[in-house]
Amino acid sequence: MPPNRLGLNHEGYGGARIDPSTELAKAIKVAHQQGWIHRRLPLPSLPGIALDYFERGLTAPKASVFISAGIHGDEPASTLALIQLIADDLLNKSYHYVLFPCLNPRGMSVGQRQTPDGADLNRDYLHQLTEEVRTQLASIDSMHPFDLALFLHEDWEANGFYLYELLDKESQSSIGDGILNEVARHAPLEMATVIDGREASNGLIQAPFDPCSRHDWPEAFYFMNRGTPHCLTLEAPSDFELKHRVHWLQVGVRAALEQLHT
Ligand SMILES: [Zn+2]
Repeated sequence: MPPNRLGLNHEGYGGARIDPSTELAKAIKVAHQQGWIHRRLPLPSLPGIALDYFERGLTAPKASVFISAGIHGDEPASTLALIQLIADDLLNKSYHYVLFPCLNPRGMSVGQRQTPDGADLNRDYLHQLTEEVRTQLASIDSMHPFDLALFLHEDWEANGFYLYELLDKESQSSIGDGILNEVARHAPLEMATVIDGREASNGLIQAPFDPCSRHDWPEAFYFMNRGTPHCLTLEAPSDFELKHRVHWLQVGVRAALEQLHT
């Protein structure tokens, strides 16, 4: 039986919130013993605010994987999913990982999508006007290319899980279907044929990557533009209990990692 919707989302996300620093502390506590390097990047003009990231597997990895979450502060399951994957040591050890569990700590602390200055960080990857995006990119610019980049999100309006896969013109294969096949064993899929104005089929939106198609680049555009062959934005429906959404996003991440094998 699929879990019931909570009915808390009206005009926006109305469900449970988290304190990102409390949750991050749980991952930081165990990170070192599980081989993770944890770094804290201060935001230059924002005293007391920092971005945390975790890295592991630098020596002879089979593949290099980037995952971020919490870029929208009203999507707490994305941050929790990534923190718990670290804390519970659930990620395949043969890959190199760079993980940013909470890209918008100021927004997450107050449960709002944007930063307190009103910036949607996931529209700032071309012009890079925000401290958060500039700080993130300064730390990873020398690390490209990645083989896979996953961006964890939630959608307060969605009826089920879906994902958005960018396809490069020369890109080999799609892995979106394989991920959704696995997620569908646990979560309802979004069955709408149009999601956010884009054609969708069984929870999958695919679009060819065209860097000139928009000026408000989301994070996925930046990674695709830097040569990451697989860039996927995973969206959990946020009108369900937090623990379910966390689990569904984790299933999506682990299914994506499995797809790298095949
Ligand atoms: Zn989002």
